[in-house]
Amino acid sequence: MTYDPNNIFAKILRGEIPCNKVYEDDFALSFHDINPQAPIHVLVIPRGPYVSMTDFSAKASSEEITGFFRAVDKVITKLNLDKDGYRILANTGLHGGQEVPHLHFHIFAGKQLGRMLI
Ligand code: 5GP
Repeated sequence: MTYDPNNIFAKILRGEIPCNKVYEDDFALSFHDINPQAPIHVLVIPRGPYVSMTDFSAKASSEEITGFFRAVDKVITKLNLDKDGYRILANTGLHGGQEVPHLHFHIFAGKQLGRMLI
């Protein structure tokens, strides 16, 4: 999959489309999912143009990779999710059901989430 600079998350990163922001820094942006699948459903995306984990791992600098993973935890800490727990998910490609071709981690929380796959 090649990176499409007009994907919806690229537009959110450029400020062309609004989002309900949770956290941002030099490496990542986090915002509430527009169609939440759990009481808490936020997305965390790297600022750089990466489609998937493989793309990110191959092309991002060590600083970007570290920064992104630290940002994921900043969101978890900011929303106080560590106490009761949460789930992180990254849909990837056709079989993963990825709709937006910009790497993103979903964080689900706020209730017992049940089985991993249904
Ligand atoms: P995927 O299926 O690619 O893993 O998930 C894409 C997610 O992005 C979906 O959960 C969808 O609800 C969310 N989404 C799509 N468009 C927008 C948008 O414009 N704003 C926000 N906040 N979330 C979006």
